[in-house]
Amino acid sequence: MGREPMRSLAGYGVSDGVAIGRAVVVAKRAVEVFRIPIPEEGVPGELARFRRARVEVRDQIERTRSGAGRLFGQELAAIFEAHSLMLEDPTFIATIERRIERDRVNAEWAVHETALDLTRRFATIDDEYLRERGHDLEDVARQLLRVLQGIAVHEVSEVVGDVILVADDLVPSEAIRLGRTNVVGFAIEAGGRTSHTSIIARSLGIPAVTALPEITDLVTDEDPLIVDGRNGTVILHPTPEVLAKYIAERSDLQLEEARAEVADGGPARTADGVEIELLANIDLPEEIPQIARFGARGIGLYRSEFLYMETDPKLPSEEDHLRIYGSLVEAARPHPATIRTYDLGGRKLAREMMESREDNPVLGLRGIRLTLARPQIFRSQLRGLLRAGVGGDLWIMAPMVSRVDEVRALRAALDAAGRELDAEGLPRAHDYRVGIMIEVPAAAMIADQLARECDFFSIGTNDLIQYTLAVDRNNREVAGLYQPLHPAILRMLRSVLASAEHAGIPVSLCGEMAADESCIPVLVGLGLRRFSIHPRSIPRQRGLIRELDSSRLEQLAGRCCELGTAEEVAALMSKELGGVTVPGQESA
Ligand code: PEP
Ligand code: MG
Repeated sequence: MGREPMRSLAGYGVSDGVAIGRAVVVAKRAVEVFRIPIPEEGVPGELARFRRARVEVRDQIERTRSGAGRLFGQELAAIFEAHSLMLEDPTFIATIERRIERDRVNAEWAVHETALDLTRRFATIDDEYLRERGHDLEDVARQLLRVLQGIAVHEVSEVVGDVILVADDLVPSEAIRLGRTNVVGFAIEAGGRTSHTSIIARSLGIPAVTALPEITDLVTDEDPLIVDGRNGTVILHPTPEVLAKYIAERSDLQLEEARAEVADGGPARTADGVEIELLANIDLPEEIPQIARFGARGIGLYRSEFLYMETDPKLPSEEDHLRIYGSLVEAARPHPATIRTYDLGGRKLAREMMESREDNPVLGLRGIRLTLARPQIFRSQLRGLLRAGVGGDLWIMAPMVSRVDEVRALRAALDAAGRELDAEGLPRAHDYRVGIMIEVPAAAMIADQLARECDFFSIGTNDLIQYTLAVDRNNREVAGLYQPLHPAILRMLRSVLASAEHAGIPVSLCGEMAADESCIPVLVGLGLRRFSIHPRSIPRQRGLIRELDSSRLEQLAGRCCELGTAEEVAALMSKELGGVTVPGQESA
């Protein structure tokens, strides 16, 4: 067989680095199905084929469930249960078999039609829980079709060697699970730079490229692939020369990273002497040692919802909270450890906490709204936090705040948890700080009011941009409109900073914008002096900051706020500073 021609695909580089490996394709989209008439004498054979497929899918589900153990996402664990039950459902099975016999059609068509028919019926049911079962049914049907069509389904860990995971979509829990196996790179059809899956890829240090339409159709299992997360390129069937070039680049990058690790951890100071603090965003326990390695001045954001995925399928207990937060407080010492209370909901969905499926979860029961609505779950988190804060500098932060009374409710819940611990004689922190994420436009607009109730702010630009510009951070169709330098965002930041300054509270920025080299000059110009970013990005940002002149940038940022578009902002910055691209997806 001759060599396949090399092919280069362009997407968005969302996690830096170069990965080289063999493809494993995971597509959840429907497979194509054709209606093939079967002669009468072929019917028993077709029935037998369907029955074998059913047993095979049942075994597959069982294997995945037991093999995956505790690292499986909550969502997935619940799905497996439902899928197993669905495969045993007598009505479902009988309807498929009747179709094969009555209509004399291939098993694929009978499965497809039956599933379609039933899912349509499920979709009209009022009861949310039952409607949800329609999705499980679609999934089971898809698995049956894959087996019938001989499309291999495997666990990534069964594949030997480095794997590049090629997927149409990937939820954060899957990314965590797969990223801890032999997966060295992600090539995904969906997603943007600030999607949580992209953030996880960066946390795990796995190169990733998203916005690759149809890559799951173009790539077959075992295809050799290169993922270049620096510029958003995926190379299919590289020639030996290209492969050699990338192998060399990969070792250079590894060397560079090792060198960055020993770089000084001193403060980042602009050329005109303004000190900028660089803190760490932490998502996963394996990142904790990087706080010291890259010289972070504490933790500016710990996304506690990912802890939930660690203890899955159980909810984290108070002791789980205590253990992990204790290690964060310890690792951040003598600097602050900012721990965000659960930001579940949206795509970071936890089934047990959601009683129903939401049509628009990003505008639904998410973040502080969800935790306030589930006081029992919140209570163990707050108790764990207060116990972990003893002797450290604990900053407790709430996500998705849009109202002043949410801050008051958080403080009241913390007071109640503190009183309980005191009554039980358990040691706990007394001098912690309470603050919020500014990531909903309403919070930015009433930042002056909120500042009176808070000890600090942290601006979450990932969501603030999404909600202000009405651009879904996961949707590649509108990814070009996801523009951090949009003047609306710059003005909003300016106004939040003014409110925080007036109230005398510290404010940091912990969205991905802070890790974007093209954004840092404007942010410093607007007056931001504290950023929280992935620890690996710290050496690069520190180097960049040292070249900046803050008083000149202050003047420039003021001019940027008076412009009409992100492109005009980038053009002005580029003219004055040289080489600024419009950050965001379109620069890929
Ligand atoms: C943000 O919205 O900017 C943020 C840091 O939070 P997350 O990315 O977890 O939504
Ligand atoms: Mg957010």
